[in-house]
Amino acid sequence: MTNRERVLEALEASGGGLCDECITKLTGISRHQTVQQVCARLANEYTSREHTACSGCGKNVLVNKLHRKTERPLPIPLLADGTQSWFDEMRAQLVRALNQLDPQGKGEPFSRRVASLRDEGRLQRNAASWMLTWTSLRNIVAFEGHVLTARELEIVRLVRDELTAWLTGFASENDTHGHQT
Ligand SMILES: [Zn+2]
Repeated sequence: MTNRERVLEALEASGGGLCDECITKLTGISRHQTVQQVCARLANEYTSREHTACSGCGKNVLVNKLHRKTERPLPIPLLADGTQSWFDEMRAQLVRALNQLDPQGKGEPFSRRVASLRDEGRLQRNAASWMLTWTSLRNIVAFEGHVLTARELEIVRLVRDELTAWLTGFASENDTHGHQT
């Protein structure tokens, strides 16, 4: 995973904007300078950098904020298989499940959160690896404008089936209110 990807995931998970210091903490990138460099490079295309309240620490400092959405227009219909919206729809379902599993982790960058839940033994290793596969391909589509090849699409459709099965199992284990999805 690249530092650029780590920073973008942290900003996506935060909802509001984040200062470089909070991004350093959330991503686990060891050098503060690296975060500053990545943030400076992202500043035009993906983010704004301005003095305002950081949603992490609340300080009034230089804050990085994502432009509305990172999605680029593609010459294919919205929600078609392989588009960012298609990836994001599943990702949102996964985030809801992870929030249920781990309410304290809300707002953590997705990949880092999945990896630590896996390492703590709170998330099955196979499910975690499908989630990481899903989100890393999603990030290439979202952040690099990659268009999936036919073979990649075949693979991610299978991954999606695995994730859907995991979500169904998770919901039936955790749904104590008896409502259906
Ligand atoms: Zn902060």
